[in-house]
Amino acid sequence: MATIQAQTFESLDSPWPKGEPNTGYAQYFIGNSYLAPMDGGLVNVTFEPRCRNNWHIHHKQVQVLICVAGRGWYQEWGKEPVELKPGMVIEIPEGVKHWHGAAKDSWMQHLTYHKDVQQEGASNEWLEPVTDEIYNKLK
Ligand code: MN
Repeated sequence: MATIQAQTFESLDSPWPKGEPNTGYAQYFIGNSYLAPMDGGLVNVTFEPRCRNNWHIHHKQVQVLICVAGRGWYQEWGKEPVELKPGMVIEIPEGVKHWHGAAKDSWMQHLTYHKDVQQEGASNEWLEPVTDEIYNKLK
């Protein structure tokens, strides 16, 4: 029987830092993720293989994702998943339910920042996990 070797972060050979364990938001993620605050108001997020965040909504702010390493997925509620590869930029409109994370067989890193942040009511609403039924259909 074939076994899948556990991949290390180093195998990604990324120029971007892994950062520190994302303990503050771990309750909203399946699997392990890491955060590395960067200059310019950017945060680099590192997802281990199979790691994804719960469905969530950014209220009164737009989230931008810039995939910089590995392979992953972005999906809006009711839409087909979009494969994330380095160089892809995703702009997530405010109020749209979505998730983002790594592919089954790859680490993934994306930079993120928020723009058009309204002074009143900007928040993140965390919802249900992305089930294995949904996730396991992805390649
Ligand atoms: Mn998001």
